[in-house]
Amino acid sequence: MKKFFVVFSIFLLAGCFIATPVARANEDTPDYQATVSTGFSMVNKTYDHFETDVFEMDSAVNNMLISVNAIKSESCLFRAYARFRYAKSGQWTKFLAFDSEYHFATIEPVAAYQLYFVVRDPMKGKTEVPSFTAQGVYIDEKLMEYVMQEPDSFEPEKIAPKPTVTSRQAWGARPPKSSYSQHVVQRLVVHHSWIPNQSQYKGALSIRGIQNYHMDDPKTGWTDIGYHFLIGPEGTIYQGRPETVVGAHASPNTNAVGICLIGDYDPGKDPIPPVMEKSLVELLTWLCSNYRVNPGVNIYGHCDYSPKSCPGQEVYKRLPQYRKDIIAVIGQK
Ligand SMILES: [Zn+2]
Repeated sequence: MKKFFVVFSIFLLAGCFIATPVARANEDTPDYQATVSTGFSMVNKTYDHFETDVFEMDSAVNNMLISVNAIKSESCLFRAYARFRYAKSGQWTKFLAFDSEYHFATIEPVAAYQLYFVVRDPMKGKTEVPSFTAQGVYIDEKLMEYVMQEPDSFEPEKIAPKPTVTSRQAWGARPPKSSYSQHVVQRLVVHHSWIPNQSQYKGALSIRGIQNYHMDDPKTGWTDIGYHFLIGPEGTIYQGRPETVVGAHASPNTNAVGICLIGDYDPGKDPIPPVMEKSLVELLTWLCSNYRVNPGVNIYGHCDYSPKSCPGQEVYKRLPQYRKDIIAVIGQK
């Protein structure tokens, strides 16, 4: 019988991240969190598959982010699958295929999940799946219903120019662990990093620290940095994931672009630098006009989805002004 060890991350975290205390960045606080060792490895075989136990969750959730830590041989074809069991009906979804990071969003909550891995390797190399992480978040079902609808169409009168964005190469980004999932840009979500705050920020070094945290932390283990853009207090805009692919910053992540302001913008903490605010508004203006996102209704703060203060109350209070400023620039047909 296969053995599993569900290790709740609180025990793991303390030892691992003392060395990089300023690189956290503020992502979802999940309602369910597990890091699971699978013990699966394949060597000297052309084909194998592996089915995990069924994991029951204490609280039902309607958003799940599964990240599989797979160390693949160069010649292997790897596929992961996940399925979820609805809390009320007890019905399972079918097994849904993904590469390494899967975002499941639904209205009706799910209470259990199971994973399945398939490996084919004509060269009989070594492939291992030491672990995977699962994070679940419950979001109000009415809000989920609204978010999962097609947004009303929006046509700007003009397309704003794209502001200067520091490329991944320029800030020294690691490549993603595997391929991304494509999405259509429909919503823009503003975050703050909280940690690092402004005094802890060290330019590209901090952005690399956030990427390392998102990719290597045993709680997350994501395929890449979670955000699509990050903005330093000095106004530098960094490219995270391409905005055309699903990120990991605020469930439900599909169709949402995540922008992280470096700093802590809760009352009495960091001031909002005008130069950072200018970069944010220019970036939002370009995204709204280029991707036909209505600034009046589809610019959010993270706290609209999650019971936390992100992007800081001071920034959140200013979102209505940004919406007005953007519509003044791009207009609406
Ligand atoms: Zn946030």
